[in-house]
Order: sequence, then C-alpha cells, then structure tokens
Amino acid sequence: MSVENKVVVITGASSGIGEATAKLLAKNGAAVVLGARREARLQEISQNIIENGGKVAYRVTDVTDPEDLKALVALAKEKFGAIDVIYNNAGIMPTSPISALKTNEWNAMIDVNLKGVLNGVAAVMPDFTSQKHGQIITTSSVAGLKSFIGSGVYGATKFAVRNLMEVIRMESAQEQTNIRTATIYPAAINTELLQHITDKNSKQGMDKLYQSVGITPDAIARVVNFAIDQPEDVNINEFTVYPTKQG
Ligand code: NDP
Repeated sequence: MSVENKVVVITGASSGIGEATAKLLAKNGAAVVLGARREARLQEISQNIIENGGKVAYRVTDVTDPEDLKALVALAKEKFGAIDVIYNNAGIMPTSPISALKTNEWNAMIDVNLKGVLNGVAAVMPDFTSQKHGQIITTSSVAGLKSFIGSGVYGATKFAVRNLMEVIRMESAQEQTNIRTATIYPAAINTELLQHITDKNSKQGMDKLYQSVGITPDAIARVVNFAIDQPEDVNINEFTVYPTKQG
C-alpha cells in the first residue's frame, strides 16, 4: 500500500511541519484529517488542499484532552471510512534553564509533547489492533537523542516518546498486530516553534541558530511520506534530519 488512499490523522496540523505534511500527503492522494487548536488556520489549510484536488477534514483538537483525539479519529472513520496512520506531531518548545523554574512551561510540555502523544496512541490502538494494520508516526527531536543546555524538560519529553515508540514497535511484533512505527528526530526546521520561548537567552540563541541554518518543514513532510509509502512489511522506524549546514 502506498500513500495514495491512506487515511492519515495529523496533529499539530495548523502550522509548520504538520501543515507541510498535510499538504504533501494530500497532494499524493492520501485523505488527511487535521487536528490543532486554531480553527481559522485549519480551515485555511483545508481550503487550500481542496482547491488542489485533495481530500481533507479537520476538527479543533487539543491533544491534552484524550476525548478530542478520540473524536478526531472518529471523524476520519466517518468521513473516509478508515484510519490507517496517525502522525503525532503537535508539540511546544519553551526552552529555558532548569534554574529558571518555569514550572508551568515544564507541565505544559509534558502535557502536549508526552501525554498528547499517548492520547493519540490510545485513540488509534483499538482499531489498529483489531484490524491488524496501522502506522504510528511521532515527531521527537534531536533533543530526544542527545542533551542540549536549555532543553532539560523539552528533551525529557522527546526522549520519552522515543522509548514509547520503540516499545510499541516491539510489542506490535510480539503481538503480531502489524502496527508500524516511525519516530522522526528533526534538528532546526523553520516553523512557528520558537515563538513561544519566554526565556530571553534561550530565544536569542535559538533565533540565531535557526536564522543561520534552518530549513523548511517540507524536509520532514517528505520523510513522513517516505515512511508511509513503504510496503506493509517494511518498517523504517527512525529518521534523523539535520540541515546540511547545522553542526
Ligand atoms: P509549530 O509551532 O509551527 O507547530 C506546532 C503545532 O502544534 C501547531 O500546529 C500547534 O497548533 C500544535 N499544538 C500545540 N499545542 C497543541 C495542543 N495542545 N493541541 C493540539 N495542537 C497543539 O512548530 P513545528 O511544526 O516545528 O512543530 C511540530 C513538531 O516538531 C513539534 O512536536 C516539535 O517539538 C517538533 N520539532 C520541531 C523542530 C523544529 O526545529 N521546528 C525540531 C525538532 C522537533 P495550535 O497552536 O493551533 O494548537
């Protein structure tokens, strides 16, 4: 099975990597079901996909609410008759030194970047298990592979989803449920991600890095497309994507 005619739920689809992925997969014939909190953005992106001949539905979704994820998956089945792939992509990155004790931001990152992924996994697992077919793709980060100053909690959430995804892969093989997994570890991708950093030094450092080396989110969209496009018995489960100029 290829990307064409697959039904793909995408969280964090209102900007950046999620938006680019939605547009590419729709262009290649997938039916995409978009979730995020900003309805106007979802509406605009959906309109663009429809104008280009694509299949799309959207629902305002907060990934911290398990019921929202269930409703998003239900929408996919209602509109397109199936659910083949979930792309757990929603995330926030308000980096700061631990000593700054921005505990509200710590909790928000755990809620969105970790619990949000768990809520996505829980929403598809019953269908994927019973139909013995499905794919779970998650955006981690290079901060989920190695430690960076300022990324104590952000990196913790991204390391956590790496473990989660690998265990899902292993358990799926053990249980013979044919659930494929792919975890993506992007480095600097120019999106809206830096906008929410409230720590001045972290923001300045990140802005400088991204302005000098950042690449467009299409790079990640192509990786997601590639992961989905493999034959069902092939699970390419990890992708690290750096801008060529980033050290
Ligand atoms: P953006 O800020 O452009 O996109 C983030 C998306 O997440 C938005 O669509 C936002 O939508 C959504 N989101 C945030 N909170 C919630 C929530 N509670 N419920 C539902 N959706 C939510 O940044 P990116 O595209 O860069 O980020 C996508 C993913 O990529 C994130 O997981 C990020 O950690 C990861 N990543 C990004 C890198 C980069 O350099 N850009 C590097 C490594 C990883 P809305 O506000 O409308 O809800």
